[in-house]
Amino acid sequence: MKNEWPRATIFYMLKLSTPIDQIARIQPIYKKKLSKLGIKTLKDLFYHIPSRYHDFSKTLSIGEVEVGEIVTIQGTVLDISNKRTWKKRIVLTEAIVEDESGAIKAVWFNQPFLAQNIKKGAKISLSGKVEFAYDNIFLSNPAYEIIRQRKDDDGEQNAFTHTAGLVAVYPETEGITSRYIRYIVKALIPKTEIKDFLPEEIKKSYDLPDLKKSIENVHFPKKKEDAEKARKRLAFEELFMLELFVIREKLKLQKENAPKIKINIAIIKKFVQTLPYKLTNAQRVTAWEILQDLERNRPMNRLLEGDVGSGKTVVATIAALNTVSQKWQTAFMAPTEILAEQHFKEISKLLTGFDITVGLLTGSSNKAIKLYSYKAIKPLGGRLSKKDLLTKIENGQIDIVVGTHALIQESVKFKNLALAIIDEQHRFGVEQRAKLTRSKILPHLLSMTATPIPRTLALTIYGDLDISLIDEMPRGRQKIITEVIAPPRRKEIYQFIRKEIKAECQAFVICPLIEESEKMEVKAATKEYEKLSQEIFPELKLELLHGKINPKEKERIMDDFKNKKADILVSTSVVEVGIDIPNATVMLIEGADRFGLSQLHQFRGRVGRGEHQSYCFLFTDSSSKKTGARLKAITSAKSGFELAERDLAIRGPGDFYGVRQSGLPDLTMSSLGDLSLIKDARKEALNILEKDSGLITYPLLQKKMKEFEKTIHLE
Ligand code: ADP
Ligand code: MG
Repeated sequence: MKNEWPRATIFYMLKLSTPIDQIARIQPIYKKKLSKLGIKTLKDLFYHIPSRYHDFSKTLSIGEVEVGEIVTIQGTVLDISNKRTWKKRIVLTEAIVEDESGAIKAVWFNQPFLAQNIKKGAKISLSGKVEFAYDNIFLSNPAYEIIRQRKDDDGEQNAFTHTAGLVAVYPETEGITSRYIRYIVKALIPKTEIKDFLPEEIKKSYDLPDLKKSIENVHFPKKKEDAEKARKRLAFEELFMLELFVIREKLKLQKENAPKIKINIAIIKKFVQTLPYKLTNAQRVTAWEILQDLERNRPMNRLLEGDVGSGKTVVATIAALNTVSQKWQTAFMAPTEILAEQHFKEISKLLTGFDITVGLLTGSSNKAIKLYSYKAIKPLGGRLSKKDLLTKIENGQIDIVVGTHALIQESVKFKNLALAIIDEQHRFGVEQRAKLTRSKILPHLLSMTATPIPRTLALTIYGDLDISLIDEMPRGRQKIITEVIAPPRRKEIYQFIRKEIKAECQAFVICPLIEESEKMEVKAATKEYEKLSQEIFPELKLELLHGKINPKEKERIMDDFKNKKADILVSTSVVEVGIDIPNATVMLIEGADRFGLSQLHQFRGRVGRGEHQSYCFLFTDSSSKKTGARLKAITSAKSGFELAERDLAIRGPGDFYGVRQSGLPDLTMSSLGDLSLIKDARKEALNILEKDSGLITYPLLQKKMKEFEKTIHLE
């Protein structure tokens, strides 16, 4: 006997957090494919938002249709069969569909299974374009669905899924059709318990629909406005969570203790007077903001943002000097050994004449660590062993320690660290800070970046940081002449470089970005280096720099280049940040179209640092108009900031530092450009946190935040 369970007894509610793996309705093969798309839970599935909608809202009776229109019709299938075209290549499935007003042919190409799926006599709904060919009017490749009248269906579910009205189209992915997603989403929404966690007041004041309604409407909207409202609601909620998260982090930090460092006006004045130039106004303002932060007993969490060459180092040095003048230590971290070395030399030079000891601590896994130290320009015991250096740091004999991230290793113990300055890394969590000081007193943190941060990002993924902006360049900087170069002009540019080098200048050649593999990138750069040094510039001295070269050798290469022992430096993108070679006047970038505008701008910032006129040549093979226009933007833009805004508009936020790794859902990513929505979300998040002194007291929201925390990683 067949065992038939009544449907109701096996029915239970799914949750948004239910893993796709546990849903019987989805076949294993689709589970795998969905997982590849990053869809692991029902929430991920429901938040997989359509990229657009087919407008099949024009429902007509068959007699009314006209050629050229996109229409929806409903009728009965009179006949359906497969045919081969005379070329025998294509299978045509032809159906005749009839309603009271007339009949029309529907034609599908190469989908022979349709003749099985759609049975003669079935009631069917079709949406597609009406075409005319070979004396025939027909619907060409229409979307279809069979109209089933099931007794247990409620009215809502009877609405069409694939035809009629607005029909969702999802971002293209292999093996998963929009039709499948619509099918599965439609089937699962009613089986899922969807509780709204947004407080009612907020929904009311921004006219945001309820969560369940929003999910329904974003996938199966009746009107365009419904879809837009739903989308806005879903975008708002994600931004709102993000704001709650970053603002709460900020409030948390403000409850911690940090050393109070007074502003030592006398020493700062003295320092400024020793500089060979006048500080720009922006440098003065930002330095002041930092000094004021240091004076509070709460840990500073500030990002110093300034275009390449805007002079961040000297601002940071003021903060360091102020700190060490009161017997506190400062750590100065750089992303690479080359840059640590450079900062060390620069800071030592700037602070010459002050009674300060500066150390350099770098170390790749098994390399010896070395120290230079200056005391009133005199080396302090020459080169020290790593052990000696660590002891001196621990005894507080080294005031400023410059280094790579090796500085945060366990073996480094500071006596009384008060300030950590980090170049090109934006965040440092409470735990990381605590590790540096090994006490309840946390160090102040100043990070520096040359990557311009669009306002919308400053308010979202950087929303926990205070930002100081150097929005002005030192006076007298020359404009770098920038040109987009198509292949025919290659020789001419090489000739130009030869001329520049004859005039005692130097050049960079940047090889194309190969995102898939560093190995391939190194290989390509090596090949380019060989070609240039053997065929193009056999008479010149070239050097090659890439990520696989060991730190010692890198340092040797950079030193040689700085000391003019080489004419041209061929490099992968490792040269991007911070390197200072005032004598370089040419920056040639191969495959420029592969880089983001901000990145190109960074490269360009490597030249024009001395007194000579400098040039930036953007090589591209691409003849696409769009690429051309994008690259042209670099030649006309006034600042890195402007380029960053354009990058955001053209390429989305993914290229910005820390965004791709953040784990933010696609929808949030795409709303990271929506300033007014961001402002609303921020305002409401602040409201909630202020009301309850930094806590989230709404139970559902609290739960949601716990989940959110697990998915987000801000660096
Ligand atoms: P970045 O902000 O890119 O790190 P740096 O701090 O390396 O810039 O400064 C770039 C160059 O500008 C350095 O050679 C520095 O000595 C010089 N510089 C900094 N401030 C000024 C200023 N106010 N006037 C003139 N030159 C300056
Ligand atoms: Mg710098």
